[in-house]
Amino acid sequence: MKAFAYVRPADLAGAVEAHGGRPGSAYLAGGTNLVDLMKLGVADPDTVVDVSRLLDGDVARTADGGVRIGAGVRNSDLALHPLVGGRCPVVAQALLSGASAQIRNVATTGGNLLQRTRCPYFQDTAKPCNKRRPGSGCGALDGTTRDHAVLGHSPSCVATHPSDLAVALAALDAEVELLGPADRGTRTVPVGDFIRLPGDRPDRDNLLEPGELLTAVLLPPGAFGVPSRYRKVRDRSSYAFALVSVAAVLELSDGRVRRVALAFGGLAHRPWRALTAEELLLGAEPVPAVVRTAVDAELGRARPLRDNAFKVELALNLACEVLQGLAGAPPA
Ligand code: SF4
Repeated sequence: MKAFAYVRPADLAGAVEAHGGRPGSAYLAGGTNLVDLMKLGVADPDTVVDVSRLLDGDVARTADGGVRIGAGVRNSDLALHPLVGGRCPVVAQALLSGASAQIRNVATTGGNLLQRTRCPYFQDTAKPCNKRRPGSGCGALDGTTRDHAVLGHSPSCVATHPSDLAVALAALDAEVELLGPADRGTRTVPVGDFIRLPGDRPDRDNLLEPGELLTAVLLPPGAFGVPSRYRKVRDRSSYAFALVSVAAVLELSDGRVRRVALAFGGLAHRPWRALTAEELLLGAEPVPAVVRTAVDAELGRARPLRDNAFKVELALNLACEVLQGLAGAPPA
């Protein structure tokens, strides 16, 4: 591992100042992604700014009836927290399906969302990768693309975002709170917009400006007390990224859909909010044929790669099962 300077500021403002927005600076919280990448030689910061003792580790109600989750809250603690766990099943289920128990005990809420969008070739420094080294090419396109994107990808990058939590938060219209330097202050951005599609800049995973620090996740009041679910399909039952995952919220009124939110994981460079399917479902009677038609319309936009056409069928079946389960109907 390359030698680096280690800085432990006294407060968050000092941390942002110490980072300075320099390309060679990196924040350290739980370290479950950054330290791995440093060991592999994929990340080589010259300054590591330790914010692990500074980030808010509390979960608290907000004045509008929502919940503010400090970026330093551990994944395990959040999944079981009384303000979130039982009241917002989709978040708890997503968290508990991620990584391993040991990693969840260390990984933070902020770090979960900021983990690199990546594929195995990103971590292999012998292979080209536009995300690791812009302009070098994409090793996946000349290799195996089974785990890769089917939606929203570009010729520059076909990786998928690995976070389960991000998919649940996108379905709930959650926001992230970002702290910048003193002259820029704090701003909020919807999670669904915060994580980027690759375009021609796959080296940028999200909308963080240089030096900005993710300080909290904000769940709106509407995230609570509604039927919601997260399902994940993967190659083994633990410690594996999603081949496909689905986060959904579904509320009915007089047998018709009053509210629906559907997001996919494992299909794109960011959580994929299925707005076309939602539009078709809103106001409809969620019988199996209607649900399947709506989800199919969303997935009709998919552009599978050489090895991953199976993901489209898998996503269709999984979304139908989840939505019909929430609607109280048996799957088709
Ligand atoms: Fe790199 Fe993206 Fe290609 Fe993977 S898919 S090798 S992360 S550019």
